[in-house]
Amino acid sequence: MRRSLALIAMALALCALLCACGREPQKFERARYDLFDTVTSLTVYAKSEAEFNGIADVAFAELEAWHRALDGFNSLEGNLRYINEFAARAPVRADEKLFEALSWLKDNERAAGGLVNAALGAVTRLWRDAREAGGPPPDASSLSEAAKHANFDDVILDAQNNTVFFADPRLQLDLGAIGKGYAAKAVIDALNNAGARSYILNIGGNVYCAQPPPGRESFRVAVESPGGSDEAAAIIRVSDMSAVTSGDYQRYFEYEGARYHHIIDPYTLYPARNFSSVTILHKDPALADLYSTRAFIMPYAEGAALVNGIEGMEAMWILPNGEIRATEGFLSRMEPI
Ligand code: AMP
Ligand code: MG
Repeated sequence: MRRSLALIAMALALCALLCACGREPQKFERARYDLFDTVTSLTVYAKSEAEFNGIADVAFAELEAWHRALDGFNSLEGNLRYINEFAARAPVRADEKLFEALSWLKDNERAAGGLVNAALGAVTRLWRDAREAGGPPPDASSLSEAAKHANFDDVILDAQNNTVFFADPRLQLDLGAIGKGYAAKAVIDALNNAGARSYILNIGGNVYCAQPPPGRESFRVAVESPGGSDEAAAIIRVSDMSAVTSGDYQRYFEYEGARYHHIIDPYTLYPARNFSSVTILHKDPALADLYSTRAFIMPYAEGAALVNGIEGMEAMWILPNGEIRATEGFLSRMEPI
């Protein structure tokens, strides 16, 4: 009796195993609202809920660690807020992840004349305070005073000890332009290592699509319409690709009929006015995030030359009058709406 029960159990286990192997992956989703001051969602095609939960736990643990490291609001030893508070007094040991992101920026930020400048925090803080107060915009003299303390060369990184020191005591770091993209890069590595193949990671509009599930050629990503319409501005087909948008319709305030958004031209010290949004496609989410902010600040011709010069990068620009311009590779991925 005992033996036949064991045999039945074995047969059932074998059957369950065979069913699981042959089963088409199903779509599972998890979202969180407390990371990077935005909504993060992870969609995975997995064979079972248990498999999905294992993968999602790994991904969100990694995201949480990046959120802590790059948090500019809550001070935790070694994180961004902590460095901003203490790095002007003496070299401060930084969280490893923060140190890695800062080192990456040192290597990548120069290429385009410092338009994306992580040392612009004293200026962006004035804009953030004005936004939180609902206006008025900061006055020009405070802005130009703050801009005197925005030289990224004054951020001294010591790779031996992982310390950060501000040679200018009024300097403040702002990693808003690359933080989500840089974190996405690490989360994608963690997802791939955990065995995920078909998934979409969306950190507040910073979207990475991995391989599509069996039977589908690609994922479809909608680019938001800056005018607030429900209809997408574009729908594109992507796989193993990040799509990152910088826009004037996120984080803004209106004052006396004018809109002041969050992406600051470091030369004028005012919100950049060339576009309503710029979307960048690239395999590397950190580069896509850096270049979406950069191209948003640049005039079109310069931005197009910049994007065309980078292997595997495509872009779409939406002008304030609604006109859409895009690179050929971007256009070839677009679907009729
Ligand atoms: P993104 O949404 O990726 O284009 O990044 C915009 C965020 O980057 C803003 O919310 C600010 O925190 C920060 N930021 C704005 N202007 C600049 C700039 N010129 N250089 C570096 N960071 C900036
Ligand atoms: Mg960006």
